[in-house]
Amino acid sequence: MAQEFPTQARVVIVGGGIIGCSVAYHLTKLGWTDVVLLEQGQLSGGTTWHAAGLVGQLRSHANMTSLIKYSTQLYSELEAETGLATGWKNCGSLSVARSADRMTVLKRTAASARAQGVDIEVISAREAQEKWPVMAIDDLVGAVWLPGDGKANPTDLTQSLAKGARNRGARVIERVRVTGITVKDGKACGVETDKGNIAAEIVVNCAGQWARKVGAMCGVTVPLHSAEHMYIVTGKIEGVHPDLPVLRDPDGYIYFKEEVGGLVMGGFEPEAKPWGMNGIPDDFEFALLPDDWDQFEILMQNALVRVPQLETSEVKKFYNGPESFTADNNFILGEAPELKNFFVGAGFNSMGIASAGGAGRALAEWIVNGAATMDLWPVDIRRFAGFNNNPRWLHDRVKETLGLHYAMPWPNRELDTARPFRRSALYDRLAARGACFGSKMGWERANWFAAPGEKPETEYSFGRQNWHGAVQREMKATREAAGIFDQTSFAKIMVQGRDAASVLNRICAADVDVEIGRSIYTGLLNERGGYESDLTVMRLGRDKFLIVTGSAQAVHDADWISKNIPEDAHVTLTDVTSSYAVLALMGPRSRDILAKLTSADLSNAGFPFASIREIDIGYATAYANRMTYVGELGWELIVPTEFAVGVYEALHEAGHEHGLSDCGYYALEALRIEKGFRAWSRELTPDINPFEAGLAFAVSMDKPGGFIGREALIETKAKGKLTRRIVQFTLDDSAPMLWGGELILRNGKPVGEVRSASYGHTLGRSVALGLLDNAEGVDKDFIENGRFEIDLAGERHTATAHLKAPYDPKSERVRADSTDLREAA
Ligand SMILES: Cc1cc2nc3c(=O)[nH]c(=O)nc-3n(C[C@H](O)[C@H](O)[C@H](O)COP(=O)(O)OP(=O)(O)OC[C@H]3O[C@@H](n4cnc5c(N)ncnc54)[C@H](O)[C@@H]3O)c2cc1C
Repeated sequence: MAQEFPTQARVVIVGGGIIGCSVAYHLTKLGWTDVVLLEQGQLSGGTTWHAAGLVGQLRSHANMTSLIKYSTQLYSELEAETGLATGWKNCGSLSVARSADRMTVLKRTAASARAQGVDIEVISAREAQEKWPVMAIDDLVGAVWLPGDGKANPTDLTQSLAKGARNRGARVIERVRVTGITVKDGKACGVETDKGNIAAEIVVNCAGQWARKVGAMCGVTVPLHSAEHMYIVTGKIEGVHPDLPVLRDPDGYIYFKEEVGGLVMGGFEPEAKPWGMNGIPDDFEFALLPDDWDQFEILMQNALVRVPQLETSEVKKFYNGPESFTADNNFILGEAPELKNFFVGAGFNSMGIASAGGAGRALAEWIVNGAATMDLWPVDIRRFAGFNNNPRWLHDRVKETLGLHYAMPWPNRELDTARPFRRSALYDRLAARGACFGSKMGWERANWFAAPGEKPETEYSFGRQNWHGAVQREMKATREAAGIFDQTSFAKIMVQGRDAASVLNRICAADVDVEIGRSIYTGLLNERGGYESDLTVMRLGRDKFLIVTGSAQAVHDADWISKNIPEDAHVTLTDVTSSYAVLALMGPRSRDILAKLTSADLSNAGFPFASIREIDIGYATAYANRMTYVGELGWELIVPTEFAVGVYEALHEAGHEHGLSDCGYYALEALRIEKGFRAWSRELTPDINPFEAGLAFAVSMDKPGGFIGREALIETKAKGKLTRRIVQFTLDDSAPMLWGGELILRNGKPVGEVRSASYGHTLGRSVALGLLDNAEGVDKDFIENGRFEIDLAGERHTATAHLKAPYDPKSERVRADSTDLREAA
């Protein structure tokens, strides 16, 4: 007997592709069985059915790799559970290098993969050919072999996941279209469909290419755009057999896998072809786009080099299917900041089959636990803002992002398309002074300044890049005279109201209920004691706090704070990022420069460290916050946008005689790493607590009312030992460059990875902050009495671990002035 259409469910999932089915599977596995999945057509009929089915584990972020590692495990076991085959074949994969630089990438990847527990072997081109006899290797430098990789049948896998979910009670209903999301009191509470309404506690948007439209039904930003994505299937080719590994040839932008004795060959061309500018048709089911041999030409040419037999083999089928891509080539996961109880899992950038297992589990855990259970920042929906949903911007950006899969992952690589996007009021002035811009959260930011006659263009390499000398100049200016940094991209949030002090004090780990005019560096911790953010809270009035946080964290932090404001509290939160520019004036001469422009008392007694005042600067009135991220005397000037140009010009005029220099983000990064200052999303993540980070001093364990994460910190303390710690390293050899992501070894054994690194010109060597991980404990003895090495593309370099920052300001005056809260520990 046909079941009645449901009117109620705990969770409604929109979309029956591989992602929706994986979310349903994992929700039911976690015990949430009252789940309804709605699919407008048939399961997998959107994008999933025509995927090539490659499952490669390597990603640049350890947690992203671990998601796919879990996928491979799930796919190998699922058939035994559900009785439905998944087509999973653990055939392994090869990646080959056509150039020395690509080989460097593969070796760097191999070192970090090992740190993440992924089996990987660096092999010669000849050894690669033994595993893949049909390829030509004359032009190859080498390869890596990943025995744990594989391939699956996307449709079968989707059906198998759906069966697993059904077996535990989920209802999977096809031919039902969701037409609206019901919202009450700022929360999603159900869906409207062409078959009737369903009330629900949670709604999950897994609508693939349609997810942007489903988000728009309830004001939720899901910034993705479709692009055409293609592969061919050949007839039988001699030497191609079912156990043939997957082959990736990223320098040729191509991949191959075996299918019925022939090859599937597809790829990621450098300039993709966006699709669906006028919306995605509802009935685009089991549908393909017309063959486009012109677009495919570059892939075909490269494939002929790798597999000469393609010249004579038959092309049986050309698949051109649209897939959704995002602005940074990572997918979109999590609870929407705009709407409670509305979750998104979409925008899979041609990685949906590989990612589905891990991403489905991560989203299900997020729903069930009410918070993410691991650091998912690279894919967190809150890394995007409403302006990222601009269709023209997305269209222009995805032309580039598709190709990123196989593009050279140069250190510091910037995306070139759809820029400039957000510009500070100083943009033209900085450009005129030789700024080479990068982009963060859409903001154009000066990375470094070219000297007269130099071109402000970065030339990428794994060694020293062409800005090495520029950053040396800028660091020297900041350490010895003064530097001015345009940090306008910093996110700024105003928190106001009668209960602002008490509510913020519960959200922040440090005590922020301080006297007016104080600024406090604090972490925002989750229930596990990990960092959701680190930021500065400035008390401007009894009921008024200004928060300055990282450029990328505006939406994330506003969401975190809002969600932790009790419903009955009298607190409002406003993002005021666009209202203020931030000019950081840093260095031993900063006081002399600022003193020429203001009547304010800038002495240590009149304007102590960690305080904020509204002062006059030239004709402008602005906040000056005495803080430093570079370890020198200085002020962050928070200037109303309309006064930014005036203040900048006045500072330059006053600073000329003191050696004031424009400085960029590369110098800022190197300066902070030399001082050992931690950065959120690198050293500070939702998985790292203040003890592990070495920031216990910025936590007020005993303040009245406690704070979020305190109980977890008490438990950690009770254990009496730390198994992970952030530690600073310098390379003993002054020549090599570290970039981050490198493997750290202690007495020859892997113990962690570099999270941030720069060339520290003040120290005359590369300097890094690394995370050490050792189950037996990471204590003083472990750090001081180990022989540390850092693996740089297969070459090991000895390194010195530091418990205290090795940068030692030369003059007493600088030391006295540069007192920093973080140092006060
Ligand atoms: C040519 C090609 C090759 C690929 N190769 C690989 C590969 O080798 N490896 C890999 O990992 N990935 C690959 N991918 C990517 C992969 O196919 C996708 O990332 C994945 O299928 C996305 O799954 P999904 O569930 O998000 O989307 P979909 O499969 O599109 O599912 C979304 C579903 O939502 C439904 N829906 C939408 N709106 C509504 C509504 N209002 N009501 C009800 N239902 C709705 C749609 O009908 C659709 O079925 C490839 C993609 C292409 C195009």
